[in-house]
Amino acid sequence: MFVDSHIHLGRDDFAPDRAETIGRAVAAGVARFLEVGYDLASSERAVQLAAAEPRFQATVGVHPHDAAGLASADGRITAEGEAALARLAELAAHPAVAAVGEIGLDFFRDLSPRPAQAAALRAQLALAERLRLPVVLHVRDAYAQAIALLQEAGLPSRRGVFHSFAGDAATARWALAHGFRLGIGGPITYRGGRLADVVRETGGHGLLLETDAPWLPPHPHRGRRNEPAWLPLIAEAVAAACGETVEEVARRTTAGYAALFAGPDGACDA
Ligand SMILES: [Zn+2]
Repeated sequence: MFVDSHIHLGRDDFAPDRAETIGRAVAAGVARFLEVGYDLASSERAVQLAAAEPRFQATVGVHPHDAAGLASADGRITAEGEAALARLAELAAHPAVAAVGEIGLDFFRDLSPRPAQAAALRAQLALAERLRLPVVLHVRDAYAQAIALLQEAGLPSRRGVFHSFAGDAATARWALAHGFRLGIGGPITYRGGRLADVVRETGGHGLLLETDAPWLPPHPHRGRRNEPAWLPLIAEAVAAACGETVEEVARRTTAGYAALFAGPDGACDA
């Protein structure tokens, strides 16, 4: 049994066949799903989806791409941002909400000014702490800056996952040593990538599986809309990298998901 720890099935990409998509994933052995919000609208949708579908949990948060909706270019939370943070807190009161995310820094695309990204990340780390929730982190071309910010802000007490991890082995070691998990997705199946080497070095510890559907489809589905039924391809690549069986990868990643995202009441039985 697998858990897909990062999907966006609420998007319009899945409007024509959302139920069939979930059905194909369940038939492929994916038993639980984490629907991840990235702005207010997708966070609302994530909570609705998780409220209606017992296999789903949700996250609420604002992606670094949209940080300009929370903070000014000189890094101050705006009035609009305060209202958005208050709405996220309201949404997070739903029992299906397992984390704050995806939040972070993206210095690859730089769609929001960097001081706004940092301010939005700090504010949402504080929100997660206040709500006693773990975090789902999106970090691209900014691992050193994200780690510095986390250390300065104080590591989230419920910790979290570096989703779609793309850092080097030293970054992976830092994350694991400090109680974070690494989300491993389709890129581990890409020829010539270094992710398999990084995953091998972890010895299979602290990993979560994710598809990030509809993005980042695993080989041989590149160029198509990704979907959670393809999660076993990622599990096979992790198993090959770590010298483990797919069953062992499924067992460890599912237990890791439950440990990170189970609510204080232990509601997650994965
Ligand atoms: Zn995502």
